[in-house]
Amino acid sequence: MKDVFKKPDSFYEFFTRSAGVDKEATHYCPGCGHGNLHKLIAEAIDDLDIADRTVFVSPVGCSVFGYYYFHVGNVQSAHGRAPAVATGIKRALPHSIVISYQGDGDLAAIGANEILQAANRGESITVIFVNNAIYGMTGGQMAPTTLIDMKTTTTPYGRHAENEGYPLRISELLATLQAPVYIERCTLEDSKSIMKTRKAIRRALELQIANKGFSLIEVLSPCPTGWKLDPIDSREWITKNMLNVFPPAVYKDRADAPSRPTPPTPVYDGDEVLKIIGIKESDAAHVAKLPADFPTHKLVLAGFGGQGILLLGQLLAKSSMREGKFVSWLPSYGPEMRGGTANCHVVVSRERIGSPFVTNPTLLVAMNQPSLEKFADSVEPGGLVIYDSSFVKDVKLPAHVKAVPVPFSEIANDLGNAKVANVVAAGTIIGLTGITGADSFKSLLGSLRKELLDANLKALAAGLAEARHFGAMSNQPSVKATVS
Ligand code: SF4
Repeated sequence: MKDVFKKPDSFYEFFTRSAGVDKEATHYCPGCGHGNLHKLIAEAIDDLDIADRTVFVSPVGCSVFGYYYFHVGNVQSAHGRAPAVATGIKRALPHSIVISYQGDGDLAAIGANEILQAANRGESITVIFVNNAIYGMTGGQMAPTTLIDMKTTTTPYGRHAENEGYPLRISELLATLQAPVYIERCTLEDSKSIMKTRKAIRRALELQIANKGFSLIEVLSPCPTGWKLDPIDSREWITKNMLNVFPPAVYKDRADAPSRPTPPTPVYDGDEVLKIIGIKESDAAHVAKLPADFPTHKLVLAGFGGQGILLLGQLLAKSSMREGKFVSWLPSYGPEMRGGTANCHVVVSRERIGSPFVTNPTLLVAMNQPSLEKFADSVEPGGLVIYDSSFVKDVKLPAHVKAVPVPFSEIANDLGNAKVANVVAAGTIIGLTGITGADSFKSLLGSLRKELLDANLKALAAGLAEARHFGAMSNQPSVKATVS
């Protein structure tokens, strides 16, 4: 006899979360609509027999932990970015079934452009849009779908159209686009509407299986916690308040559209990738030739925006990469093109790199005072701090680091171009640490602005000379490289 009452196979048997937490209950509040919806989706995945090729994308919001529940492929994406991630997955794996599961804050606020563009491109993905008219996870703030006069923590007197605009009707909005094939709004107010939602989810997934294109199912879902109601009243609240603003309906149905041709699954060609990024196989083989004691260099390079900090990090990483070392480069910068702050993390190693984020650098390069103040304490004991003494005047450093002051900017000015201060710094870094060969680095300078080539070559030589000078003076870090 068919086993009717059972947990869908595409749910995990146990919802294992952080240690010490009840492992069989979900993290959702009692009466929350996410539980219903998850079940409807899991049942559809089972019945359509697509678990082994389904990828569930959960961005930020109450459903951020989708991967605790769905026993399918899972990707957790940044806030609002699920449609972009889903697009990437679908294009790389055209036979996968991709579900982007998003709340109203995520989809209709921070991710509004993402969803608009994905829908307009007609990506062959299924979006489940959970509309509960509030930001649940962060404590009940106004969402783009919050109703007029509805009180939230950020609209304590109610949402007023003249101040906060009108509730955004996403289904109606996206239905004006040409590309989507299916858009329906459903609700979870009672059993009958839940059964309709069940049908809509299946239909959307079937359309994706047939590779028809973009579909979105908007679901009016109860949030008892955000609405400060009990679970039963929450369902009634949908009926009384949401249906007239967000009428359930099929807003677009182009199911008779021809199936899109399925593109061939892209083949990953390692040799082609190496060719594109300019690495020869012989370079990669060089890893084996690196001395076993080649240390892992963890750099933080910091200064003003416009000082070429990010480029400095890129060049050091690229030069090292061309020598067959494992490298990473992680930039961080403010919105200003000039005058803001910028820093980057660079890791160079003979081992694979676990994380590009550097918490305790072995080398800090501070091109200005705020950078020294911000990062000096984080330098590893025995680490090196190289700073631009043209700008850094007030030097307070922990006792456990070695300091190397070099007036990079003054040297660059004397060479006739303040822009090459970063390359002077590169010379000093290379000379003191041996992170990369000076000749490898030099070979990259030709790819920069041609009119700066001469100044850059002189800057590199000057930086190396500073390193030699420091090595001779202090007899501390050995000078490991010379420029030919
Ligand atoms: S805050 Fe609302 S949406 Fe979030 S889990 Fe609780 S009831 Fe569900």
